[in-house]
Parts: sequence; C-alpha cells; structure tokens
Amino acid sequence: MYSKIWLSKPHFDNENFDIIKKTIVSNWVSTVGPNIASFETSIERILEHKAEVVALNSGTSAIHLALKLLEIEPGDEVLCQTFSFCATVNPILYCGATPVFIESEKETWNMCPFFLEEAIKDRLKKKRKPKAILVVDSYGMPAKWDEILAISQKYEIPVIEDAAAALGSRYKGQMCGSFGDFSILSFNGNKIITTSAGGALICREKHVKERAIYLATQSKIEGVVHGELGFNYRMSNVLAAIGLEQLTVLEKRVQQRRENHFRYQSLLEALDGFELQEEKNTDFYANFWLNCIRIDTSLISKSIILNAFSNYNIDVRSLWCPLHHQPYLKGTLYYGDHFSQRLYDTGLCLPSSSNLTSEEFHRIAQVFTTLLK
Ligand SMILES: *Cc1c(COP(=O)(O)O)cnc(C)c1O
Repeated sequence: MYSKIWLSKPHFDNENFDIIKKTIVSNWVSTVGPNIASFETSIERILEHKAEVVALNSGTSAIHLALKLLEIEPGDEVLCQTFSFCATVNPILYCGATPVFIESEKETWNMCPFFLEEAIKDRLKKKRKPKAILVVDSYGMPAKWDEILAISQKYEIPVIEDAAAALGSRYKGQMCGSFGDFSILSFNGNKIITTSAGGALICREKHVKERAIYLATQSKIEGVVHGELGFNYRMSNVLAAIGLEQLTVLEKRVQQRRENHFRYQSLLEALDGFELQEEKNTDFYANFWLNCIRIDTSLISKSIILNAFSNYNIDVRSLWCPLHHQPYLKGTLYYGDHFSQRLYDTGLCLPSSSNLTSEEFHRIAQVFTTLLK
C-alpha cells in the first residue's frame, strides 16, 4: 500500500523548539505571555504596510472580529466572494448579517471588480448599502487589489481581506494581508506556516488593535467585570512560540511551494488536457499554497481523475464549491456569470506541501501520465 500524499501538511524540520519547552516550564501557557506580542511584532515587520497585528486562535475568529469591529449588525448586507472556503462566509452569519455573493474573474479566480460594482449599484438602487466587502486571495493568489480598492473608496465601503492562505504572496510588491481595512491570516496546520491552530487579525490603527484584543479576551474591564459581549479568541502563549519559530522559515516555505509550482509547470506543459493556474503577469506573486488545475473535460472527466489519484493514496481535492451553492446557503443573493461553478466542475487542487518529496512528486506524475493512456 502506498503511503498517503497529503494536499498540504504541516512542515517542521530544523526549527529550534527550546522556546516551546521554556514557555511551558515558565507556566505562561494560556493567552497571556511575552511570545504573543513578539509574534505580533514579527508579523507587523513582515507585512510592512501600516500593519497592527492581533494574534488569535483561528482565521475564522479573525474574520468574525473584523466584522464586529466594523459593527456589522443583524440584517446588514456584506458582499462576499462566492469562490472560497465556508470559513470566509460563516462569520457573516454569526453576526446575523446577510451575505451577498460576488462572482470571481477569470485571471486570479478572486472577486470580479465588474460584478462587485454591478452589485453595489443594484443594492444602492434598492436602498440597501452593503456594509463591507469580503475578498479572498484564493489558494495564495492575490486578488486584483487596485481595482477592488478603487471601488471600495468610490462607494466608501470597507474591505476585509481573507489572506488566510496568502502569507508571503504579493501584489505589485505589497504583501497580501496588508490590503484590507482589515485583513486576516490563518496558521492552521495546512497553511503556509502553522501554529497548529491559530490566526491573526490585521488592522491599521493602534486603537483598533487595542479594541480587538479587548473583544478577543471576553471584553474584560477589570477583575470579573466585563464591558460588553466578548469572545475567547486570543492566541495562546505556547502557540505563539510555535509561530515565532515558523516565521523564521516563512521565506523558505514560500520558495519550496513555488518550486512545486515549477515542477507542475514542466510536468503539465507536456500533457494535453490540463491547465495550471498561473500568475497572469508580474503584478502577481503567489506563494502557490495550493497548485490548481482545470481539466479539459471533453478529454477526461473529473471523477476519473479523482478516482485514479485516490487509488494511489494521493490527496487531490476539487476546487471550492461556490458558497452560494452550499446546501445551507441556497437562495442567497448572487451577482455574476457562474464562472465559479465551472471552476468547481472542472478544477482540482494538487498536493502542494512544502515538504513534498521527489519520490512523492514522481508518483503524482505517474498517475498523470497513465491517465492519458
Ligand atoms: C483556512 C482558511 C480560513 C479559516 O482559517 P482557520 O484558521 O482554519 O479558521 C478562512 N479562509 C480561507 C480562504 C482559508 O483557506
């Protein structure tokens, strides 16, 4: 039996774990301790651009806090990229607000500026001004930030950037995670670097960061007195220690994932029927968290491919199912041309771990070549 090749697995190798031991021995294992602030400062340095970072227990809670800080209330509408993971939209529902889904464009597979503006105009006509725009850098590919931010400014609607998987990616030289009024990162085990589980909220002003920390620590004023409804969303000091070590290898991890991408490029160039998702021009620099392909389904079906990889114990997964087609979100408002449905029908994510070995890649390549026979 073949050993499993995972889509994206945690990667620890030469990191020094003394800091984790030291942290546990110090007994500061919960949500207070010096590693948390150091981890935040390190990310602020990496992001460069007016970043005020708040370390949290997940990317999902970071999106929820961003919506809370924007005072999203029950009944409000939030424009949300439909081509994404469920964690992008769920916090909108936690707030009792209504998602309005926006289709992706064909180059980055992220929010389409044209449909975004169409949607805003239509919502304004109906006297329903959206309260926020939630844009994703899907699979580590930066969105078309110039166009999206211009629309955000024109209509004065704030942007939340879901850069959960995009740490290390850049658009026109600027780091993903620094484009929104709020941005979020995830440090889940399958992401580019990991704290086991974890996330971060990025805001632009110190006083907003302070309020985010307050909300994330049960809105405690002092002792047992709490000023408002709060959350238990802070990152622990132990996980921040793991994060500090992982940050030292971030650039290496980005290069390793980009090398996977180049390996897939040379493999798939030689084969008919598969198109690899690429950076469209030099404005886009992706960390290639996951490598994605579209299949020519007139030559071969998606289910045959999924089956073949599964037979070799290789984790290959469909591209995102559009959120407006998820069973629990059916009937939600949507603006677009159904491109993401075509991505779902014809697209796959390939194993892209930064510790993918040549033997593993060889097995993946073999499945591709036998598929076409
Ligand atoms: C992983 C991910 C999230 C959620 O992050 P968690 O830390 O798992 O809560 C949100 N959005 C996208 C696009 C993701 O890939």
